[in-house]
Amino acid sequence: MSVPTLTLNDGKTIPQLGFGVFKVDPAETERIVTDALEVGYRHIDTAAVYGNEEGVGRALKNSGIAREDLFVTTKLWNDRHGAAESRRALEESLTKLGLDYVDLYLIHWPTPAQNNAVETWEAFPGYRDAGLTRSIGVSNFDYRYLPAILDTGIIPAVDQIELHPQFQQIDTRPLLADNDIKIEAWGPLGQGNVDYASTAIGEIAAAHGKSWAQVIIRWHLQRGHILFPKSNNRERMAQNIDVFDFELTENEMASIDALENGGRVSADPAEVN
Ligand code: NAD
Repeated sequence: MSVPTLTLNDGKTIPQLGFGVFKVDPAETERIVTDALEVGYRHIDTAAVYGNEEGVGRALKNSGIAREDLFVTTKLWNDRHGAAESRRALEESLTKLGLDYVDLYLIHWPTPAQNNAVETWEAFPGYRDAGLTRSIGVSNFDYRYLPAILDTGIIPAVDQIELHPQFQQIDTRPLLADNDIKIEAWGPLGQGNVDYASTAIGEIAAAHGKSWAQVIIRWHLQRGHILFPKSNNRERMAQNIDVFDFELTENEMASIDALENGGRVSADPAEVN
C-alpha cells in the first residue's frame, strides 16, 4: 500500500509519511535523498539551517519525478525573522532547492527572546499569495506560543513539534485539534536516543514481527500525525516506509500512549533564540 495523504486546513494534501534530513551531511545529502526517493518517499523535510537544501534540490531534479508528485518543506531560520528579511530567506531557500515553490514553509522556532514571531507570521500569507509556497505553518510553537499566532486569525496548516511516545505534547494537542492544525511529529523515533526497544514497544514489535521503529511509526500514523523519520541507511529508510501491512490494536496503542513521561530529547523552545 502506498503512503496515505492527509488534507490540511487550507485544502492542500500532504503525504503523511516522509523523509527528514536534519543532520544529513550536505556532502552526502544528494545521495541520501536519492536513496529515499528510490525507496518510495515523496515528501522531504529540510530547513535552511540544515545547510543541505542544495543537495536536496539536486536529488529532486535528478530523480526525474514530476514536481506535482513531490512535497517539499523548508523552514525559516531564527536569524531571518521579520517581514522583509523572511521573504529574502524564502527566496534564497528556493534558489538553493532549485524550485519555484515549496509545498510548505514554516517558522522554525518561536524565538521568544526576539519577540518577533507574530510580525514574521503575518508576512507568511503573502508568500502563499505570491506562489512561493503552497501552505504555511509553524514549528516548535507549543501551548505557550500558539495563542499569539492564533490571535492573528491566520491559522497554520501544521505545527511541527517534538513528539514521540515519551513526549506527546499533552498540553499543546487540544489547541491544535480545536483549530484543525495537523501535527507534524519531529524526532518521531526519539532521535534514536531513547531505548524504546526495551519498553512495551519491543514486545508489540515481536508480536507483529516488526521492528520497534516500525511500531512507533505505526503509532504516529494511527494517531493522525505527519512524520518524516530520518536515516542515512537505505535499509532503514525502506523499513521505515514499510509500515502499511499491519495495524496496532487499540490496546497496543494505549500501552504506547502510557509511555508518556514528559521526556524531551531535544531543546525546549523557550530556550532557543
Ligand atoms: P528521528 O526520531 O527520525 O530519529 C532519527 C534516528 O533514529 C536516526 O539517526 C537513527 O539513529 C535512528 N533510526 C531511524 N530509523 C531507524 C530504524 N529503522 N531502526 C533503528 N534506528 C533508526 O529524529 P530526527 O531526524 O531528529 O527527526 C526527523 C526529522 O524531523 C528530521 O530529519 C527533520 O526533518 C525534522 N526535525 C525538525 C525539527 C524542528 O525543530 N522542526 C527538529 C528535529 C528534527
